[in-house]
Amino acid sequence: GAETAMLFASGMAATSTALLGLLKSGDEVVCSAAIYGGTLHLIADLLSHFGIGARFATIDELRQPERLIGDKTKVLWFESPINPTLRCVDVAAIAAACRARGVTSIIDNTFASPINQRPIELGVDIVMESVTKYLNGHSDVTAGALAGPAGLLKPVDKARRMLGGIVDPQAAYAIGRGIKTLAVRMERHNANGLAVARWLEKDKRVATVYYPGLESHPDHALAKKQMSGFGGMVCLDLGGGQDRVERFFDRLRVFRRAASLGGVESLCSLPVLTSQWGHTDAQLAEAGITRSMARLSIGLEDPQDLIDDLDQALNP
Ligand code: PLP
Repeated sequence: GAETAMLFASGMAATSTALLGLLKSGDEVVCSAAIYGGTLHLIADLLSHFGIGARFATIDELRQPERLIGDKTKVLWFESPINPTLRCVDVAAIAAACRARGVTSIIDNTFASPINQRPIELGVDIVMESVTKYLNGHSDVTAGALAGPAGLLKPVDKARRMLGGIVDPQAAYAIGRGIKTLAVRMERHNANGLAVARWLEKDKRVATVYYPGLESHPDHALAKKQMSGFGGMVCLDLGGGQDRVERFFDRLRVFRRAASLGGVESLCSLPVLTSQWGHTDAQLAEAGITRSMARLSIGLEDPQDLIDDLDQALNP
């Protein structure tokens, strides 16, 4: 539903180009504290070099977005569902609060994919997707995309030329082929994600399961309102220390042990070693992340093969 879209060499190229294109020294970006680690580090550690201020907001604070917006706020950057807890925030409410104050809202829609969540219809200005994930879908390309109104994206287009994070032709070809099956892939990701989450939830060896399609998820009602499917990302917390989850991780056979997500094959990663690398204990706590969490990207395999693999890996 966007007027225009632009491709970049990675999700992080799309993110950094958008922020550098839209913000200048003295401006402030409001950002969800629970967010992809690369985005957090970019905003906290690099944008400050250019005099761009940042304000990080908890999920609770994002329930009253109008309170987060100050005179210097130019951009509000957020995710829903959030990596890796799959917490959701009210996309339409955040977009409306930004619009009322002339602030540009940007959502990282990577976890949902444009099949399961259509943020522009919910009022968001700009949508960022890490194309590396579901859009390409085969774990063989890095790319990113921004979609939104042409006028708003004009300075970003200019910044893209200067910064050079443009996708290469080979990757563009692969994306063109991958995206043809996006809708059917998402149907299977959604079905497999729900099947695995439901099985994990019943297993006594697992302390907590996070999946927005489960009735037990704190944001299930909100997810149902704004998403048409819940995707393939499932997070589980085994409780205890990091060594127990590391043992589980090392025993997986069908799941590949790797970062990234959204491809045809199922992956497992430990957030504290990957997407939330380098976070302090305070930053982890703010993002609701523990050292005993494992994040699963559920692929397109037979769901019983995935469940059997999890079952054997969970054995003490
Ligand atoms: N946003 C989210 C939610 C991600 O998970 C990632 C990568 O893991 C990115 C952005 C960055 O995308 P890329 O790896 O394409 O730079």
